[in-house]
Parts: sequence; C-alpha cells; structure tokens
Amino acid sequence: MTGFGTLMAAAADKPFDPQAATDTWLNTLPAADRAKSDAYFEGGYILQVWNLVLSLGIAWALLRFQVTVKLRDLAERFSRRRYVQGVVFVALFILVSTVLNLPSDYYEGFVREHRFGLSNLSVGGWFGEQVKGLLVGMIFSSLIGSLLYLALRKFQQRWWQMAAVVVPFLLFLVVVLAPVFVAPLFNTYKGLESAAIRDPILAMARANGVPADNVYEFDASKQTKRISANVSGAWGTIRVSLNDNLIQRCTPAEVQAVMGHELGHYVLNHVYKLVIYQSLLLAAALAFANWFYGAASRRWGGRWGLRGIDDFAGLPLLTAGLSLFMFCATPISNSIIRTTEAEADIFGLNAARQPDGFASTALKLAEYRKLSPGPWEEIVFYDHPSGRSRILMAMKWKAEHLAEFPVSAPVVAPNGK
Ligand SMILES: [Zn+2]
Repeated sequence: MTGFGTLMAAAADKPFDPQAATDTWLNTLPAADRAKSDAYFEGGYILQVWNLVLSLGIAWALLRFQVTVKLRDLAERFSRRRYVQGVVFVALFILVSTVLNLPSDYYEGFVREHRFGLSNLSVGGWFGEQVKGLLVGMIFSSLIGSLLYLALRKFQQRWWQMAAVVVPFLLFLVVVLAPVFVAPLFNTYKGLESAAIRDPILAMARANGVPADNVYEFDASKQTKRISANVSGAWGTIRVSLNDNLIQRCTPAEVQAVMGHELGHYVLNHVYKLVIYQSLLLAAALAFANWFYGAASRRWGGRWGLRGIDDFAGLPLLTAGLSLFMFCATPISNSIIRTTEAEADIFGLNAARQPDGFASTALKLAEYRKLSPGPWEEIVFYDHPSGRSRILMAMKWKAEHLAEFPVSAPVVAPNGK
C-alpha cells in the first residue's frame, strides 16, 4: 500500500516504453536495406520535380511548334460535329503525349523498378500494360474531355465553375467503374483461397459490418514484388482486395493487421470522403488553370495560333496549368490522404489487435518507403504515414493493452522477405 510497494511492482514489471520499442523495431532493419529504400524513395522526390519540368516542356513544345493546332485542324476535317471533333482531338492528344513521355515513363516504371528489385515485369509485359493503359485512357479521356470542350464553348470564362460541379460525379463514376471494368484488364481477382488466412479475415470483416463477398485476392505478383492491399469501388462495387505478395510473404498476424487497416477505409467511408476532398482540390486547380490559360494566351496565344479558351489546340496550356497547381498542392493532397491513412491505421489496430504484426508490416513496407523521414519531409512527400510513425502508433496502442500481450515484447517476427 506504500510507495515502496508500488516501486517494487514497477521495478519487477518494467513499464513498456513505446518509444524504446519503436527504436527496437527500427533497428531490426539492416542498414543496407534502409539505405536502399531511402535512396529509392528520395529519388522519387527528384522524379516529381522532373515530371513537372517535363510536362511543362512538352506542353510548350506542342504549342510552340503548333502540333496541337495541326491535330485540331485534323479533328475538324474528320467530322462536322463538335463532340466528335473533341473525341478525335483528345484521343490524338493523349497518344502524342504518351509517346513523348515514353522514355521517361520507361525509366521510372521499368528501369528504376528493376534496379531496386521491385518489379516482376518483362520488357514486353511492361509495354503490354502501357498499351492497355493508353487505350483505356484514350477512350475514357476522349469521351469526357470532349464534354469539357462543349462546356468551354458554352460557358467560356465560367467553364471551370461548371466543371467543378461535375467533377465529383465524374470521380464517383470512375471509382465505381474502375474496379469492375478496368482492374480486371490488368489483374485477376478472386475470393480468398487459403482457409487458414481467409477465415480469421472474413470473421474480422463480418464483425465490422463488411460482407464477406467483398473481400478479394489478386495476382499483383504479375507486376510487382510489393505487398499491398486496397479498398476500391463505391455503392455496390465497393470491395477490399489483398494482393498475393501480401498473402504469401506475411504471417497471419501481419495479414490481419493489414486487413484491419483496409476494413478501416471501408467502414470509415474513406472512398466517399476522398472523392469530396479531391473534388475541392480539383475545383481550385481548374480555377487556377483558367487563370493560367488567360495570362499565357494573352501573351503568346497569337503566335501559337490559338483562337480562344474553347480551342482544342490550347489543351496543353490547360494541362500545364493543372500540372503546375497539382505539383504545388502536393503537400496538401498528400496530407489529406495521409490523414485518412492514419485513421485507418488506428481503426485497424482496434479491429485486428495485432500491434506487432502491424509494426512488422510497416517494416516490410519500408522496402519502397523511406522508414524514418524528418517531420516536414513526411508532411510534404508522404501519402501514408512513415514506417516510424506507424510503428510508434502501434507501440503506443500496445502500451495501453499490455494485459493482452506477453510482457517480453517487442517480439520481432522473423522477417520473411
Ligand atoms: Zn490505406
């Protein structure tokens, strides 16, 4: 009953220190692996800047050499109907842009991924996926892009306000259609197979109000070595999908930890919330693009042969404005997504009750995400919490639930990579 008694109890039962437990976890990653993932992730910062410079450079070249003026003339000769002209123009524009971006995309998507041992695709496989993606992009973008040009013609300077109203509905359409029509073009989805892994996952899903037939596994190992999972769709098409790398490379505790996180996205309605947040950001981007177009075309529009805001040939100028805005807004969009990811993390810890499984998964994700960034670095560049933030969160959760766990923690699972 005395201070002495309490002291004895504390000494015998050394309190679990979340910070120390986090450091223990972080130190289990070999220095060479950590240097490699830091290099991979930091290279991504440079790529983001490079991609902006490249897209502005391509836009300038398309305008300066009147490439889009020629494409516009071609589209106008093809049909008298304005909507058809728009479809033809946007499809050609996407094709030309993709070809011009190809060397950079090949480096980023194939060479670099292989250099860091993250890709399973052959050159042929990679090109096949690019062609499929291009066809999907051409069909969808041209049908929608041409509608945008009808709005540009009708509403002129106020086009972006109309577009901003329509964008959330379009995003919902993409979110509903993509898992049904696009995802199966790239991967095969099926119900979870292994009963040992499946049954606890489906039990957790049911316990959290997610119908069991909404949980899938897919063959991501076709493309990548990364472990991942996602929630996609809306209304009737909403589903949780775990990739096969995750199922093969992770312990049941780790799979449950990830599944708890994905269920969090589902139960917390993150798909809908993110569509709303992204729509607000896009509305601002459209307003900026409109201003940018006006400022640039007043100065160079004549020389570039542009007729006005509703001229197809000015599309590179609009996309340049959008790219510039979205680049500057990267810390905002990353922070919006990272915040919802942290919500799903907490939900997942409460649902799966696997803090150590969660921590060891966070370490596995450090193969392609720098483990321990500075605070500003995390705000600017991270669309998920860093490994360190996630492990600390898990250890803080564990510290408040010690009765459920052996005191000898942290137990470090053998890293089965
Ligand atoms: Zn997530």
